[in-house]
Amino acid sequence: MSDPARIDGLSEAVARLLPALERFTRFEGPDLAARRSVWRAALDEPLPATGAGPDAVLETIERVVIPHGLRVGAPGFLGWITTAPTTIGAAAQLAASIATPQRWWISPGNFLEVLALRWLAELLGLPATHQGIFTSGGSMANLVGLAAARQQAGERRGLDPARDGIAALPGPRVYASTEVHHVALRALAVLGMGRRALRMVPLDAGHKPDLDLLRRWIDEDVSAGRTPVAVIASAGEANAGDVDPIEEMADLAHELGAWLHVDGAYGGFGVLDERVRHLYGDLAKADSFAVDPHKWLAAPVGIGSVFVREAALLARTFALEPADYAMAAPPAEGDPGSPWDDFGEGSLDYGPDLAAPARGLVVWAILKEIGAAGMRARVARDLDCARRVAARARASDELELLAEPVLSICCFRYRPPGLDDEDALDALNEGILRAVQARGRAVPSSTRIGGRLAIRPCFINPRSTLADADALVDEVLTVGRALVAASGDAADPGPQTG
Ligand SMILES: *Cc1c(COP(=O)(O)O)cnc(C)c1O
Repeated sequence: MSDPARIDGLSEAVARLLPALERFTRFEGPDLAARRSVWRAALDEPLPATGAGPDAVLETIERVVIPHGLRVGAPGFLGWITTAPTTIGAAAQLAASIATPQRWWISPGNFLEVLALRWLAELLGLPATHQGIFTSGGSMANLVGLAAARQQAGERRGLDPARDGIAALPGPRVYASTEVHHVALRALAVLGMGRRALRMVPLDAGHKPDLDLLRRWIDEDVSAGRTPVAVIASAGEANAGDVDPIEEMADLAHELGAWLHVDGAYGGFGVLDERVRHLYGDLAKADSFAVDPHKWLAAPVGIGSVFVREAALLARTFALEPADYAMAAPPAEGDPGSPWDDFGEGSLDYGPDLAAPARGLVVWAILKEIGAAGMRARVARDLDCARRVAARARASDELELLAEPVLSICCFRYRPPGLDDEDALDALNEGILRAVQARGRAVPSSTRIGGRLAIRPCFINPRSTLADADALVDEVLTVGRALVAASGDAADPGPQTG
């Protein structure tokens, strides 16, 4: 039978994969993901004319997919801003996909969506009146926040952008620092304001957005009849992890009639650490606040969230017209009813998705497992790791700290005494980065600080410890010394000893 459509036998199917998954999560032996020719050869085939059956699928996953998997969950993986789920998050996602395959209608998974959003707001210190939704990630969370901002800007001028578009909204402008995440540009493209609506203020000498210049720009735009829609403050920008002066930016935005959106996709949870809590100011002033459970909370990828000041505004932004096919049937008086009597808690009108997985069940599971204290400890541990790297860089005459860590990112580079040529330093550090990544013990990524290549660990991986921070520094030193020695040999092919 080509379509057995089995929904039984889950225990055997999962049990078959578990040993390979357990082996994978020990991250032992060489990293096989890069052996593209091997796994591609095993996977790349034409659409099967007839089904291979469940055993063949499980066998391929077990033998090819899992052992060649991507090791973003390894304790030494410190790159970009991503990690792998913890056990409870992964188990909860499996449960959600089977027992609550859809967040709507009446079920525990539906209720946990609302509860998890309430818990998240409480954990972050956001007002309970802010309306939260889950999204597929930070890109959509930012888009939702900026869509609400656009709606508000229109409504202030007697327009309804959700109904009529924004053709009548003169010169919409959004402001942020140059460190704003690039997904904001795409959100503006999608929202019809256009990428060019974003005005990016440079950083001042103190590495903060130049707010005087920002005020000047907004004043000019207002005088010219344009529409300041929103100011975006980054709570943990993705390059060096800096936190913008959120409260000052909120005051400025509100004074000038604009919305304050906080992009905390990465660093929203940083508010849990007393060392940096003050940087976040009064979060009640944030009109919208995006934060990604699939980053610091280590939920499986596919879970972002955003909180917006006013549920009614969100509902006007994303109102879903009724459809004949999509009605729930309220029970008659005294009828015990069924799950299908209503769509459960939450609203169809708060975001761009209709069907969606029960992401709340996963976030609830993680928060229930570790509690507020567990998350606070994780954030503190990760800030400690970034500070450890910074301390080691400061203490070494072969390393240079390029930016003081604010949250859990530390930007530094290898700089042996006497090597001052900036281009040579960039090339050397690029070589170090590639070699360190290939060795695999510690996997940082990079960015540019003041135009210069920085090695950039970002600590959000719940498995990473101070030992991994130290290992990264040791790796950079080891590889840096070897590369300098090798280039010395190449540059000076004179008499060799030893
Ligand atoms: C990761 C990130 C985003 C994008 O989020 P995705 O979940 O990757 O869509 C946006 N802003 C910041 C600051 C981020 O760190």
